[in-house]
Amino acid sequence: MIRHIDRTKCDSCALRLRDTCPVGDSCFQDVIRLDSERRPHIAYAADCCACHRGYYYACQEDCPLGAVEVSSKEAMPPSIMESMGRTLTAHHEA
Ligand code: SF4
Ligand code: SF4
Repeated sequence: MIRHIDRTKCDSCALRLRDTCPVGDSCFQDVIRLDSERRPHIAYAADCCACHRGYYYACQEDCPLGAVEVSSKEAMPPSIMESMGRTLTAHHEA
């Protein structure tokens, strides 16, 4: 589950100042939103599914300054794991 976004890193981040922070668009679950100063913040933490089976967290990977912290302590819900497995299988078979 997503834990934290370090606002002190965002405050001076050139990407934010240029309105190009990639983290605002990282999450397919729409967990992250931008505030009025374009800082990303955790808006819907409960919707985080710790994506990509825990080996690749999109939001964490997308921030070049390491401002986003995701923990693997809470696993992805089994229904989503199953759904992703079907999607990946279909992709590999195509
Ligand atoms: S999340 Fe990362 S890339 Fe986005 S504003 Fe903060 S430090 Fe910059
Ligand atoms: S870990 Fe994945 S699902 Fe969770 S907030 Fe980040 S991008 Fe969204």
